[in-house]
Amino acid sequence: MFAAQYIGNKSFNVVKGHAIAPQAGEVRLDVGYVGICGTDMHIYHGVMDQRVSIPQTIGHEISGVVAQIGEGVEGFTVGEKVVVRPLDWCGECPTCEAGLTHICQNLKFMGIDTPGAFQSSWTVKARTLHKLPAGVDLKQGALVEPLSVACHDVRRSRLKAGEKAVILGGGPIGQLVAAVAKSVGAEVLVSEPNDSRRAFADELGVKSVNPMDTDLAAYVDEWTGTKGADVVFEVSGVLPAIQSMTQIAGRRGRIVMVAIHSTAPPIDLFQFFWKELELLGARVYEAADFDWAIELIASGQIDLKPFISSVSPLADIGSAFANMDGNPQGMKALVECNAEQ
Ligand SMILES: [Zn+2]
Ligand SMILES: [Zn+2]
Repeated sequence: MFAAQYIGNKSFNVVKGHAIAPQAGEVRLDVGYVGICGTDMHIYHGVMDQRVSIPQTIGHEISGVVAQIGEGVEGFTVGEKVVVRPLDWCGECPTCEAGLTHICQNLKFMGIDTPGAFQSSWTVKARTLHKLPAGVDLKQGALVEPLSVACHDVRRSRLKAGEKAVILGGGPIGQLVAAVAKSVGAEVLVSEPNDSRRAFADELGVKSVNPMDTDLAAYVDEWTGTKGADVVFEVSGVLPAIQSMTQIAGRRGRIVMVAIHSTAPPIDLFQFFWKELELLGARVYEAADFDWAIELIASGQIDLKPFISSVSPLADIGSAFANMDGNPQGMKALVECNAEQ
């Protein structure tokens, strides 16, 4: 088997290794495809070198096939298609005991805190697996993880059919939130300065606006007949969006914080009082979000093929990352991990 190791300084080594036999409760997968995530790009840029122990195999958006089953694991058969929900929770903290294992107080994120999926063989705990229906191909399967992020965001927002949702930021997650919001019957507007990303939203069948050349607050006011947005998803992580989100949300509007803000930006709390707004955090996903994401793909309600902008073999992982770097129109680059077997 082969594994790609992130070695720091925007570099990877692809090394020959040995498949790890599954222990009790574990399953070994032949990895199919692994998506390159924004978080992987942060790691690539060195900003997470304190958290990632170098050299490390990263990657967490994965589809694969069951190759070997450890003792005590039931319900899986060799050859079956699966995806991994890459969270390793402790099961013992008060948050886990309350059933919120995805925000466990000792949570380890697989592919960041522990070895990840950019390898041809990956051994994981069986409790992280979700089955992919036979009709869903492994390429789309690699996008179940980011789609589950979007499902979690929409579930947290309580968005309903007929409501109006504004998504601030039209990157891969913003577009997936748009697709899920549309699937529940909401009217969707994506605010995004990049032309090709706005064109992508148009292809998806949702409205888009450029906040750099249009007054977003005035635009939303007109779009909603002065009511304001029922739900605002902040997916951009930029300061102007923090100012916009409280302006464009309507009375009793819900704002969902999806973006990772590394600073503490000022928020207009007066608007929370005046309009009785709600601010909801949304971090990763729960098992139910994976189930929903798989159902959305399997039923054909969401077609993920347009999101896949490139597929590269594991041996070319370095250039796959380099191509993603500074390519804002690329949605999702996949790495094919069993390509050289
Ligand atoms: Zn990710
Ligand atoms: Zn825990």
